[in-house]
Amino acid sequence: MDDFESDDGNYVELETGEIFGDVLLLTKQKNPMTCIAIEDSEVVMISKEQFYDRIERSDSFIQLLIELLTKRISYFIDIHKEKHGDNLAKVAKGFPWYRKNIGETARLESSRMKLKVESDIYKAIEKDLFSCEYQVIICLKTGKIKGFESLIRWENIVGSRVPPEVFIEIAEETSLIVPVSYWSIEKSLSDFSKILTMTEFSANNEVENMFISLNISAQVFGHKDFLTKLSMLCEKYNIDHSKVKLELTERVFMEDQKSVDIIDTLREGGFKISIDDFGTGFSCLSYLTSIDVDSIKIDMCFVRKVFENNKCLSIVKNILHLCRELNVETIAEGIETERHHELLKNLGCEYGQGYLYSKPLSLHNLQEYIKSHIAESKKAA
Ligand code: C2E
Ligand code: CA
Ligand code: CA
Repeated sequence: MDDFESDDGNYVELETGEIFGDVLLLTKQKNPMTCIAIEDSEVVMISKEQFYDRIERSDSFIQLLIELLTKRISYFIDIHKEKHGDNLAKVAKGFPWYRKNIGETARLESSRMKLKVESDIYKAIEKDLFSCEYQVIICLKTGKIKGFESLIRWENIVGSRVPPEVFIEIAEETSLIVPVSYWSIEKSLSDFSKILTMTEFSANNEVENMFISLNISAQVFGHKDFLTKLSMLCEKYNIDHSKVKLELTERVFMEDQKSVDIIDTLREGGFKISIDDFGTGFSCLSYLTSIDVDSIKIDMCFVRKVFENNKCLSIVKNILHLCRELNVETIAEGIETERHHELLKNLGCEYGQGYLYSKPLSLHNLQEYIKSHIAESKKAA
């Protein structure tokens, strides 16, 4: 599909009967064929790499099914060629079941919507529509800023924000999460280096010791070049590996021996590992016996209900107890009130993150926040 491109990116609409270019279909051999739209259609380009990547990652049954379908389509094309010469545009009409079977089912609508978002993500990467915000992480005992978490933002063409949960999930279903994540990792490290080198903060212990937390999806974590790219970016922005904390969800930890090895290598390389959304992943805890991690983030679903629901309180207390036994640091997220802050501090949780301290901030606002925080600490000392 390399030659097929619309003026503004990768998305075109065809009217009934319009023919679009050469399509390399399913097999890796050169196999150009011309297609005709038999109804008004929206066409989204998916690169060859992404296409094969997805097929290779799919369930073996799906792979087999695709292979059978490819063979079947090639067979029909051959027969059609024999009967009607090489006029491949007519082939589509040779599939009357095609129109019948593609009804407006909910499943189809949902995949169509996902493809549209996917196509928009693709454009957003090209048009630089992503940005990052940072939310501070506070030491509950001292009130000092220990670091901040990078959170990606996407303002679409009409200027409204698309929630990360929505587009991250769709990007994760495709290999788009890889370029999106590398973009956000680079932006975050570049911004982090700007904070570390601000003259106002020079020789300030609090700033020197800060870390940055990066959310890493399973697919990116398992990506073959991840460690190399991450190390190169740290070098580029002069950031010590020990200042970079990778937030991974329990799903990653449950995979297989391969993830244990990757985590070991990352830790040997000096990076810190944190388990995100701890307790929500329906996991068994056995992975904790084979993997060493530096910190665990108590999910906000437990923190927020800690006063109303005794079970949540028990879970929080037990996570803190478990982490003490395992010698792992704890971060409570979703701290919105002083009451939450006091309770978590008294229960021995080390760090806190939440709207009580600050919402996620742009780089500029984060710098202002750190400045006024340090000025206040100096006044209080
Ligand atoms: P997360 O990693 O659990 O991030 C915490 C989310 O909770 C953020 O939502 C943050 O804005 C929100 N939050 C923080 N404190 C409070 C609070 O006190 N109260 C409430 N109600 N919410 C709070 P956000 O920014 O919408 O991000 C949602 C999720 O999207 C993140 O959840 C993370 O899983 C994912 N995400 C965000 N940025 C990235 C990224 O760069 N890469 C990847 N792979 N995932 C990302
Ligand atoms: Ca996180
Ligand atoms: Ca969370």
